[in-house]
Amino acid sequence: MTYSTGGLLEARSLTKTYSSGSGSREVLKDLCLTLEKNLLTVVMGPSGCGKSTLINLLAGYEEPSGGRIYLDHKQVTGPGPDRLVVFQETALFPWLTTFENVAYGPKIRGEMKGPRLEKAIMDLLRVVGLNDFRDKYPSQLSGGMQRRAELVRALVNRPKVMLLDEPFRGLDALTRSLMRDYYLELFEKHRGTNLFVTSELDEALLLADRLVIITNRPARVKKTLTVSLPRPRTIDISSWPEYLALKSEALELLHEEAVKNFKAGAVNAADFVGAYASLG
Ligand code: ADP
Ligand code: MG
Repeated sequence: MTYSTGGLLEARSLTKTYSSGSGSREVLKDLCLTLEKNLLTVVMGPSGCGKSTLINLLAGYEEPSGGRIYLDHKQVTGPGPDRLVVFQETALFPWLTTFENVAYGPKIRGEMKGPRLEKAIMDLLRVVGLNDFRDKYPSQLSGGMQRRAELVRALVNRPKVMLLDEPFRGLDALTRSLMRDYYLELFEKHRGTNLFVTSELDEALLLADRLVIITNRPARVKKTLTVSLPRPRTIDISSWPEYLALKSEALELLHEEAVKNFKAGAVNAADFVGAYASLG
């Protein structure tokens, strides 16, 4: 397969504010981010800072309160088959086999059928070691196998952009490292523009071409690090000086934001205690 054409995704001054009865919460503020085509951009930031919100906006599932999103210089305002999301929860249809789950998208869009579709699917299933499980139902697969089927199901549609929101969260460490290797192999073969959110720094550095650190709420891009380690990558590179230098720089940036996150929580707690005392 050839690399997909296009796939330059740009967020310009994205702002997202949620309003509730008691007030409003600014989650993203003037966030600018460029996802270059055929690169793997990893996003990290404190928990609750707005990473999933960013994915939902880029996917078109939610509307920004301000700012715009462009795909290949054209504004996008809703979901489309050019941007697919892989979530941490499984979304496989339980009544369909692995093969049927993967074939579902191309079939309903009538894009590919017969032997061509069969070959495209089996080639992908082989990369992730699921070719012998093509006729099994999701309940007959392990958690890791379900995630692999999920990756293949998204990829078979050849989206220009894949948005992955902590897809390996909740898996045990060994399964997680295997998943990372399967995903890397798929990415290195098929590319496309990938945005991958994770909370694991080593996972981030093994995957990324670009590592974007975002700030505590409201989220903006704090810094983008270029990870130019050679591909294919294996865990061996995690002892290289270049890797270790990137890791310590990223750790410092993440730590600064985590401290702000913590302090924001502490201030709220103090306010609460103050309010409580004044009641007494
Ligand atoms: P992350 O993925 O970085 O952990 P999220 O994007 O899920 O963070 O959430 C960012 C913030 O936005 C959180 O404070 C969350 O409570 C808030 N939030 C997310 N979705 C909604 C919503 N639909 N309504 C109100 N607040 C929301
Ligand atoms: Mg999230």
